[in-house]
Parts: sequence; C-alpha cells; structure tokens
Amino acid sequence: MTQSRVLYRASILHFSQATQNVNEDACYFDDGALVVENSRIVAVGGYAELVIDYATAKQVDYSKRLIIPGLIDSHLHYPQTEMIAKYGEQLLNWLENFTFPTENKFASYAYCQKIAKHFVQQLINNGTTTAFAFSTVHKQASEALFTEASKFNMAIVTGKVCMDRHCPDSLQDTPESAQRESQELIESWHGNGRNLYALTPRFAPTSSAKQLSMLGELAQQYPDVFIQTHLSENHHEIEWVKKLFPAQKSYLDVYDNFNMVRPRALFGHCLHLQQEDWQRLAEAKATAVFCPTSNLFLGSGLFDLQKAQDFGVSVALATDVGAGTSFNMLNTFGEAYKIGQLQGKPLSALEGLYMMTQGPAHNYGLSDQIGNLNPGSYADFVVLNPQFNALSQLRTADSESVEDVLFALSFIGDDRAVEASYIAGEECKQELEII
Ligand SMILES: [Zn+2]
Repeated sequence: MTQSRVLYRASILHFSQATQNVNEDACYFDDGALVVENSRIVAVGGYAELVIDYATAKQVDYSKRLIIPGLIDSHLHYPQTEMIAKYGEQLLNWLENFTFPTENKFASYAYCQKIAKHFVQQLINNGTTTAFAFSTVHKQASEALFTEASKFNMAIVTGKVCMDRHCPDSLQDTPESAQRESQELIESWHGNGRNLYALTPRFAPTSSAKQLSMLGELAQQYPDVFIQTHLSENHHEIEWVKKLFPAQKSYLDVYDNFNMVRPRALFGHCLHLQQEDWQRLAEAKATAVFCPTSNLFLGSGLFDLQKAQDFGVSVALATDVGAGTSFNMLNTFGEAYKIGQLQGKPLSALEGLYMMTQGPAHNYGLSDQIGNLNPGSYADFVVLNPQFNALSQLRTADSESVEDVLFALSFIGDDRAVEASYIAGEECKQELEII
C-alpha cells in the first residue's frame, strides 16, 4: 500500500549521529517538521523551511508536542509480562519460584500468542518500537512474538532461550536441539521483514559447556545475528559460575571462550565485573546493558556507568521486565538517574535518551534504520505530550529547555504521556484489551 507524504509539525529532538558529547550534539528543532513517505523518513528540520519544500504533503499538527525517535529497549523478557512486580526475592530464588513456572505455560501456542499480543501492546503504548526480548525455551514462543510484531512492521529482536541444565526438566533442551532450533529460527526469521534474531543462552549456569560451544559455532556461522544473555548480576550467581567453569578467568571469559563476545553481543547487567572484563567488552565492541529498575528490585547492585565510560564500553538502557518494574523507558532512565546520584554521577536526560536511541542503534550497526530521525531511517517515532495531566501541565508549562521537559516526564510521566507511537509510518498506539 502506498502511503502519501506526511509532514508532522512538532518540537523534535534526536541524535543524528554517534557522539561522545551527548549534551552538545543533540539536534533540536523547537518548531520542527518530520516528513515521512512510504514507511521511511524523508526529511527532518525546521518547520518554516520544510513546509515550503514539501508544500504538497499532508500536514499533521502536533504543536506543543515533542517528537523523539522510537525507543529501543535492549533487554527484557516477554514471557514475564504477567509476572511483573512479584514480591521480594533475589535472582536465583526469583527464577525458581516465579520465572520457571511462568515460562512453563509457553508450552501452549495459544498462550504464547496471548502474551505476545499483550507484550507488543505494552511496548508500543510506552513508546518502545524496538525491543531485544528473551523468549522461552519453546521454539514456538519466539515464532509467536515474531508473528505478532510483524503485524506492526516492528523491528523486534528475539530468540529461543537455551537451557540444558539447572532448571525444571520441562524447560530443558539439549545442546543439539538448542543449536538445531536456533538455526531453524534464524533461517526463518532473521532479516524476514524487520525481524532480527538473537542467540539466547539464558545465562552460563543453565547451559552446559557443550551447549555454549554449539551456540558459539552458530555465532560464528552467522556473524550478523545478535547474542543476548546475562552477565554478572548477583554475587551468588557469580560464585556459582566460578564453580561450574573453574578453568575460566571470569564470568565474561566463559562466554568469550565460546566465541560469544563480539559486536552485536548484548550482556544484561554487568554489575560486578573485573577490570579486564570491561577492557574486553570495549575491545570486542559488545554492549553492556544497564537495567536500573531490575537491579534495584532484585537488590542486585548499582551499575558503574563511570567505569563503563572510562573503558569506552557502549552502554544501552533496558527495562528487564519482569524483574524490571516498568515497560516505560523514560521511567527507566529516571531510575538510572537515581543510581547515578548514589554514585555521585547524575545522568542528564539527554544522556538517557541517547542510551535508548542512537547510542545502541549505532553500536548494533542499525543506525541506518532505527534510533534517529535521519532521512532514510524507518519512520519509528514517538509523540510525547509534556502536558498530559494537571501535574505535568503545572510542572512543564514554563520549562525553558527540552531537556527539562524530558527529565520531568521521566519521573512524573507514564504511558499517558505517549500521545502516539509510529512504527514504519503507521500510528500503532491503541487501548489495551483486557485479555
Ligand atoms: Zn533479564
């Protein structure tokens, strides 16, 4: 279906390129215009100029609204949508008591479809247009999510969780089945439409050396496929990994030994790393994923952003739902800010926005498609209403900067501040069905 050319008028904020200097290199148009045609952006700039250049375009007026790129959530678990905010456990008990029983339900394809639908709606309604989502061990769980995301032409990244030990029998695969099913999913879905695949060993304790080795072979065979897993989240977990893999120098070294530390590898948490690990992540151009609400909720620790930056490691923000407590990426930045405060390094709202847009898009090799509002990129963007209720109206009415508005919405905003979510040029926000 051919779409007509549309010009959206609003304040516009994004990062057009990768930068170390986030606070200075943001592109902002107070009275801006975004021009979209056939799912892609064709122009971005000041309204006064673009309304002349694109005089025949249909106009949509979002005055007093703020357009930002569609947000990227770099780590979360779609099967855990229904178990968000389960009371009080640390990682290993939490997995056993809540996560594994919930993931068992995905043996039913109808259940996969139901949760996939709810999950994708939550993402969209919160302004997240690309997510790196863990699935379950069931191959069909990944298929259900790819199928649901495809209805919205959404760039989803997911993969079958691989676990061949230390979890209930009903959730275990084998090294051979994990490799075979992962490969089948890659062949069917990676690069099919906007779908992308991530090899997904849950974490080192639930995969044998043989399984990690066979997944590492796939990682080498498909260098443009993503890898997502967990790394160094909890002290008990780290001690366990040491016992299971005594020959390796560190937790990261376990993955490195199996060829899984490389570009397009995303490591969730990275809370208690050794100096050499930071160095290695930087060299490998892998990504450390900072999940602040989850880290606080499970009492796992405080992410050391300063250290990541000192070593030049690329950092992406993520919710880590269901241990994370919100689907909302701006709220997630708000908690990252508080963690920074506890360490004497408060983040700016622009730094936060960068870590959920252009920063990870660039590091993943996707910045020609997502993470910015550059001509040629997909028209994935979010329309924020800074004055969506009485409090936000009071707070932002006299704001002197866009950064202040974004900062305020990170604490007093929620999905109501997301007036619209566009994916590939189509407005996709809708009322949640109770399902
Ligand atoms: Zn996780």
